[in-house]
Amino acid sequence: MSAVLYGSQTWSLILREQHSSLRTPCHLTWRLTEGMEKGLDILAPVSSVGDLLEYLKCPRCSERMEQPIAFCKNGHNICGACKDAMGKCPICGHPFTGTTNIGLENVSVWSGVACPNVDLGCKIVCPSELMTDHIATCTYKKATCPLDKLLSIVCPWEGLLKDMAAHCRESHQSRFREGSVFKSSSINDAVNIILNDDEIFIYHKLFKGGKLYCAVEKVGISQTPYSATFILDTLSGLDRIALNQVVNVVSENTDVPLKSGKFLKLNDKLLKRFICDGKLALQVVISEVNLET
Ligand SMILES: [Zn+2]
Ligand SMILES: [Zn+2]
Ligand SMILES: [Zn+2]
Ligand SMILES: [Zn+2]
Repeated sequence: MSAVLYGSQTWSLILREQHSSLRTPCHLTWRLTEGMEKGLDILAPVSSVGDLLEYLKCPRCSERMEQPIAFCKNGHNICGACKDAMGKCPICGHPFTGTTNIGLENVSVWSGVACPNVDLGCKIVCPSELMTDHIATCTYKKATCPLDKLLSIVCPWEGLLKDMAAHCRESHQSRFREGSVFKSSSINDAVNIILNDDEIFIYHKLFKGGKLYCAVEKVGISQTPYSATFILDTLSGLDRIALNQVVNVVSENTDVPLKSGKFLKLNDKLLKRFICDGKLALQVVISEVNLET
């Protein structure tokens, strides 16, 4: 990739309205070149490149032309495969030049491809080499309720990832928490949805065989790493247990937090020391992991 190729300022900046409630691709920085302004997302709405894509249709096979794009002595462009198959221009019959159309090749790279979730409403178009990153964080993916099948919860909600937080807020109010710090004092099993930094987390608390297990998982939206800190105090405040764990991304099987090995575990003897008047002084702090420090 050359700086020249990505130096164009003619591209529309990313749609800002796409994601109202969740951390989304528009927060990502596509770091293509050192010269690119930080935070500039080289994505464009489909409509702005639709006309351009017409110019990239090969006149012979109608496929989109990508590097190498050849042309004849009269300037007719053709895809590499058709050039090899034809030997001469299918429009005017003149021979091809020995070079390629660098300008159009650059346009081909820049005009990009549409997100596969376009039918679900995603309007992102970006260079194909960036699409994998976008798809990983596209919030126009189909999603089911993250609480479904946890504990005894049955929730048939199906929608888009971008609407998941609103669904949880509206339909699971009693389990919904917002912010980076929350208290978890009951001595009953619990599952909560935590919305923090526009990211959705699931908090599990399980009492099993006299032991306590606590875990936080992230519902996969951004690739930002998070950690959860479990802080447990005795009533006197003299004893404290604190454990910091990197948060796993939630997986299909819902009892996975305990299989992941990333959870707080307290055995029965220790647990008894921290239960007072039928309550736990347990606090959970979710924070972004700063990879630069
Ligand atoms: Zn062709
Ligand atoms: Zn020609
Ligand atoms: Zn998308
Ligand atoms: Zn639900």
